[in-house]
Amino acid sequence: MEADETQREPDGLPGRQPAAIILFGPPGSGKGTQAKLLKTVLGIPHISTGDMLRERIASGDELGLRVKDIMQAGRLVPDEVVNQLVADRIAEPDCQRGFILDGYPRTLPQAAELDRLLGERGYRDLVIHLKVDYTKVIARIAGRRVCPVCGTLYSLTSNPPRQPDVCDRDGARLVVRDDDRESVIRERLEAYERLTRPLLDYYAGKGGLLFEVDGSDGTPEEIFDRIRGLLRLK
Ligand code: AMP
Repeated sequence: MEADETQREPDGLPGRQPAAIILFGPPGSGKGTQAKLLKTVLGIPHISTGDMLRERIASGDELGLRVKDIMQAGRLVPDEVVNQLVADRIAEPDCQRGFILDGYPRTLPQAAELDRLLGERGYRDLVIHLKVDYTKVIARIAGRRVCPVCGTLYSLTSNPPRQPDVCDRDGARLVVRDDDRESVIRERLEAYERLTRPLLDYYAGKGGLLFEVDGSDGTPEEIFDRIRGLLRLK
């Protein structure tokens, strides 16, 4: 879908209201990586429900304990839990100019709740669908490593750390996420197919901005260039 040039804001994004940019795609499609790149260009917060939930698990609070087993099994946590996390987060002042959602919404009830929140607060949404095929996703997730201290993501194939298994930034030993094991990856892809993918029809039907990006081939920077081109960002 083409963005209307006459309605471009100074940040380069189409439309007059602050944007909620929704990065959409299966696990391993590069949503987190692209969200981080978009954040550096647009200067708006990156909101990852997966990261927020992992932080709560690490802190050992009640919510963390409640979702730990669900996440480790690769299933989705209840809608009301993530809806509340997102509602609280986007009410914070740094979200006033817009924000980037990574991993939310993942079900139709979540999308409906997000619509309600965005309508109430005067944001428009813009969906970027990262299209990748599943064989690539499985290989990508299997090679994924993360720094437990600063959260930097590495890929053994496309973006390896300088020293094996050591974070370039802080020297911490890299880890494999609990839910990145192969048996769990399949469960996560199944949840995506059944519960999340139908949202594409939902967003297509709403007639808002929905951009399709090839997220299969190329480096993260090349994929980001495609997003920049589509959004016509400088
Ligand atoms: P992610 O880091 O986005 O791949 O999310 C990791 C895990 O967190 C998922 O497999 C779910 O268990 C949980 N999760 C993250 N976001 C959501 C969401 N919007 N709805 C339900 N569960 C979620």
